[in-house]
Order: sequence, then C-alpha cells, then structure tokens
Amino acid sequence: MSLLTDQRRQILEEMGVDVWSLRDKTGVASISLPDESSFEEAETKSQEANSESENDWFSLQKSVQSCQACKLSKSRTQTVFGSGNNNAELLLIGEAPGAEEDRQGLPFVGKAGKLLDAMLYAIDLNREQVFICNVLKCRPPNNRNPQPDEVEACASFLTSQIESIKPRVILALGRFAAHRLLETDAPVYKMRENSNNLPGTEIPVVVTYHPASLLRNPEQKAESWLDLCKVKSLLESSLS
Ligand code: SF4
Repeated sequence: MSLLTDQRRQILEEMGVDVWSLRDKTGVASISLPDESSFEEAETKSQEANSESENDWFSLQKSVQSCQACKLSKSRTQTVFGSGNNNAELLLIGEAPGAEEDRQGLPFVGKAGKLLDAMLYAIDLNREQVFICNVLKCRPPNNRNPQPDEVEACASFLTSQIESIKPRVILALGRFAAHRLLETDAPVYKMRENSNNLPGTEIPVVVTYHPASLLRNPEQKAESWLDLCKVKSLLESSLS
C-alpha cells in the first residue's frame, strides 16, 4: 500500500488507470494501486506526450518564422508568433502586428499593449497566465487592414495554435479576429451581444473591441469592461 501524490493520481487518472482508496490505522487516506510499474508506465507516457506536444509547438514556431505563404513575408522585419503560456485557459487573439510589434517580435506592445495589460489586470490575470497572438503573424505595411488572401494564407497557423493550447475561453479583440474565428462578417456590436462558440467546438468566443480602438474611442471602455466580466465568469464556470 502506498501513499498517492496528487500528481501521480492525476497522471493515473489521465491514463485511465483505476485507483481506489483505503484508510490506514490513523484514519489517513491512502491509496492501493495495481503495482508500482503502473506509475512508471503512466509517468513515462505522460512525459512522452508532454515532450511531443512541446516539439509540435516548437515546430509550429519554426514554420511561422520561415513562412513565405503571402506577400507580407516580403515587408516584415520579423514574424510575431505570439507570447505567453501555451497551456493557457484564456487565449486572446488580435488582428495583426503593428510597427512596434514588427520591431520587437512580440504581440501587443506600446500603448495598446499597456491597455491590454490593464484589462487583464482588471480580471486578475497577467500575460504569463494567458496566450496572446494575432490572426496574421506578419505586419501589413502602414498598418493597413489584413486582406482576405493574407488571412486565408495564415489561417492554419492560428488553427494549430488553438488546437495546441486548447483554451477554455477565447477573447477576440476587434472585428478581424472575430470575423476569422466566427466565420461571419457581422458588426462587432452584434457579435458582442451574442453567445458565440468557436465553430465545431464548445469553446466560447467573447468578442470585444481592439485595445487600439479603445484608445481612439474611450467611450467603448464601459462595454469592454462588460466583455471582460463575461470572460471572467466563463473561466470561473468552466472550472466549477
Ligand atoms: Fe506566412 Fe502568415 Fe506571415 Fe503571410 S502573414 S507570410 S501567411 S506567417
């Protein structure tokens, strides 16, 4: 009979190994297990799965870095893959890198990035706890809008990121992200009002204004706060 750590219990449960508990003479719960080799086998498989998923993520980053699938590859300084926790419960998706993002290779830097940080802070989150990326991984020249052929060419990268992260909730920042994710061309105010799921999944997609739009139109901040409250509530309910 051996005591079972939470980590080992989780690994075994993930592997589908049945565990059952007894109480020892002191009344402390202990766990009887099939045998020690089940732990080792389960831990090895779990480590292999984690390592495989880290390799996939690394390959995806490499593929983005070398991508030349659309004309933006000619004008970019560097690609902007995204940043944060690749096991995040919340995935934030914006439109495309701007000039500063293109220079630094990071999403949402500068004034819009600071505002995004404040928005996350307002719901008790920070950048290390979420993952942030864009529909396009390269900057459109002069910050023009993404073009349909560019969104199409870049689509598989975003899809792979979503499949790998498996977020509980997605926050779409602005209309380009919302249109790409929800396969619609509805206006932002309409998508904000709806309960949306990522097509083909049960992942809720909350739509809000892009931080750059909030900087230009501060009156939208009150509505944006409501959207953030929706995100917080969805995250909490997904854990209960
Ligand atoms: Fe490739 Fe996307 Fe960059 Fe176009 S925007 S070159 S598809 S990574």
